Amino acid sequence: MRTLPCLLLLVPALSVAATPDARDFVQQALIVDTHIDAPTELLKSWRDLCNEVPDREFDVVKARRGGLDVAFMSIYTAPEEDAAGTARQKAHMEIDSVEAMAARCPESVAIIHEPGDYLHLRGAQGRVLLALGMENGAPIGDDLSQLERFRDRGVRYITLAHSHSNRIADGSYSPERPWHGLSPFGEKVVAEMNALGIMVDVSHLSDESVEDVLRVSKAPVIASHSGMRHFTPGFERNLSDTLAKKIAKGGGVVQITFGSGFIDPKAAADTTAYFRELAKFQHEQTLARARGEAAKSVDDFDAIWDPAHPKPATRISQVVDQIDYAIRLLGEDHVGIGSDFDGVSGALPEGLNSVADYPNLVQALRARGHSDATIRKVLGGNLMRVWKAVAALARD
Ligand SMILES: [Zn+2]
Repeated sequence: MRTLPCLLLLVPALSVAATPDARDFVQQALIVDTHIDAPTELLKSWRDLCNEVPDREFDVVKARRGGLDVAFMSIYTAPEEDAAGTARQKAHMEIDSVEAMAARCPESVAIIHEPGDYLHLRGAQGRVLLALGMENGAPIGDDLSQLERFRDRGVRYITLAHSHSNRIADGSYSPERPWHGLSPFGEKVVAEMNALGIMVDVSHLSDESVEDVLRVSKAPVIASHSGMRHFTPGFERNLSDTLAKKIAKGGGVVQITFGSGFIDPKAAADTTAYFRELAKFQHEQTLARARGEAAKSVDDFDAIWDPAHPKPATRISQVVDQIDYAIRLLGEDHVGIGSDFDGVSGALPEGLNSVADYPNLVQALRARGHSDATIRKVLGGNLMRVWKAVAALARD
């Protein structure tokens, strides 16, 4: 999730059409997408995602068509909600919304807590399995016991911070870096997550924070939705080669994200500028509130920013460039996918517009010469290996 609505330049009609063979392949292969922002969208504007919903990038019907097996639902809270003291409440409501979806169509959907339950929950009817990832550790507050609470509700990864630095770690978009990495509390959070079997997610973190996580975590770590900085020089939100290699060396996995703002260098520079200017704007609003004046909202800021910064049209080949590069750098065992569907306001590459489109990705990867065995690892095999390793370490 980036809280950044954006206007797309006119994107030509879909010219990527997957072959029947690629469509068959996704039905056989295990596909795990580690970042889908459906719960946040549900709370903003409810839809019945058991049915096909044209204005959503995730719904159960499209997920089945695209062969998606395990969809990590992002339990996202914004730094503003943390500041207002409402982050924990919002996180519980988002989890409730996922549980409600599973209850509404149990023949098509189930919630997965343990990777070992995959086959049994999937069942003969091929249910779509929903897993939970928490984006922003803000709902933990300063209370370590909340980790166990959220683990019990099904949360299996936590992105430690989002666009602002928080109590746990510094974020990559944040001009303020109070901790120069993890805070002392953040170190305890990582150790407790290892003990509870919750994957540590380094997406959104500053370089210093990622370094600290890699030093402290005893378990392999993930980047649930990140790009490779090689393609977007200076964009700290994407991973440097050095950090990506360290994640791989520790047995972890880098889940390549699809959003145009992460794969296009100009859009990435705009994203950095957006968060810098937004931080200034929010500081001004805080001062205005202190003076007893009416403060403006993030929506007010976006209404001015967005028309001036349209997102460029991008192509599926740019996502494949990222995956290709990551495989060459890290090896085929350390790369996966984390789309950010429903989290980038539609700023997605042509041919990768919803969870129905994984066959297009398969076809494009095959066209680059990747074997079906490699593609299976990238689509989900690698993430499941890491999830199992993190769970096993916690049991030990
Ligand atoms: Zn995000």
